[in-house]
Amino acid sequence: MCAKLIKYRPERLKGLLVCESVIKPLEKHLYNTGLERREEAALLAGYIVGKSMGLVTTVILPYTESSSGGCAFPMDITARCFDTIGRSGQLILAQVHTHPGRAWHSNTDDEWAFTDSPGLLSIVVPCFCRYDLRKTFANSIAVYERLTNGDWHCLAEPEIKRRILFVPNSQIIL
Ligand SMILES: [Zn+2]
Repeated sequence: MCAKLIKYRPERLKGLLVCESVIKPLEKHLYNTGLERREEAALLAGYIVGKSMGLVTTVILPYTESSSGGCAFPMDITARCFDTIGRSGQLILAQVHTHPGRAWHSNTDDEWAFTDSPGLLSIVVPCFCRYDLRKTFANSIAVYERLTNGDWHCLAEPEIKRRILFVPNSQIIL
């Protein structure tokens, strides 16, 4: 008997385990676009482990239409993301985007999320990702959770620390 992959993101993720291997490419992507003073976005995908814990194994760096005032996923890119991820057996667990300054969810962020379905986490990275992403997570990042009624719940700092964890997945040579 083998375990079956969960095919739908739960309405609430207990937490997000982020494999460390996704951090560097994500950071580089956000930072490089930030050098042009443009906001950038990415997606985090992976699997559900246990009942509702998300395990991020993949970072998706799609083409976005970005500017200093925001960024958006073109419709054809959105469709390709869903298709590619669906075929891989993974799920979109979170969206990430940068801001020029403070991290928060604007009205545009509320309305134009990658998907409307509940359980999606939306991570906003401040200052065009100029600072070490892991350190930023500890103090100045913003995380919002899509609720079943369509609202966004802003996670308080202790909740971010409790629910989002980085886990090593590198090679170990002994
Ligand atoms: Zn924003």
